[in-house]
Amino acid sequence: MRYALISDIHGNLQALRAVLKTLENCQIDQYLCLGDVVGYGANPNECVRLVRNLTDKTVAGNHDYAAVELTDISNFNPHASEAVRWTARHLSEENKQYLKTLPLWLKMGSSNLVHSTPQRPELWDYILSPYDALTAFSYFEGDICFVAHSHRPMTFIQGPGGLLWDFSDRIQILSDSRYIINTGSIGQPRDRDPRACFALLDTETSEVRIQRVEYDISGAQAAIRAAGLPEILADRLQYGE
Ligand code: ZN
Repeated sequence: MRYALISDIHGNLQALRAVLKTLENCQIDQYLCLGDVVGYGANPNECVRLVRNLTDKTVAGNHDYAAVELTDISNFNPHASEAVRWTARHLSEENKQYLKTLPLWLKMGSSNLVHSTPQRPELWDYILSPYDALTAFSYFEGDICFVAHSHRPMTFIQGPGGLLWDFSDRIQILSDSRYIINTGSIGQPRDRDPRACFALLDTETSEVRIQRVEYDISGAQAAIRAAGLPEILADRLQYGE
């Protein structure tokens, strides 16, 4: 089976379209979405519609829940909370109902999907260090936990040699190890690479690949500015920060 893992689209239709176009040629059996379909970008309805049509395997991100008042936004920064309010005003009622149905966690065979952390997904903590990963490893069963949320692709490997922190774009899944894999962000990368980021899991070759795709950044920026969303949300796209 070939899975495409998409995440943190954040209403960036230009980036999502570019990724889906690339994936058309990848013989994908199943799409999996790690959440934050909306928030920040100017096209939340279009992105929700595309994701809904692609897959019924989507977990909620903090921005998805924030837009439908299922999570508290008091710890969001001012630009993020302004974007949440804008998104809530512009989402269709049907798409709001859909976002409310998203679960915090999905298990697919020996893989887990969660937006933030397996220990307490509803608190939206980040896994950004081996220390964070060590805690997270004891809170899921199976070989792999796919996560998102930080918008930074990275992998933690718990194997016979201890805990490894890996930034490579090709991860071989070995039977004696366990993995926490952050698949990066499609719509707002923050690892200083502005290209849209997603992952492919091939269960035949036991391999995960992190992939990048260029997209129409200036189109996404123009849409954000035309929508009256905070300027910084447009600016940051070109730096991948
Ligand atoms: Zn996000």
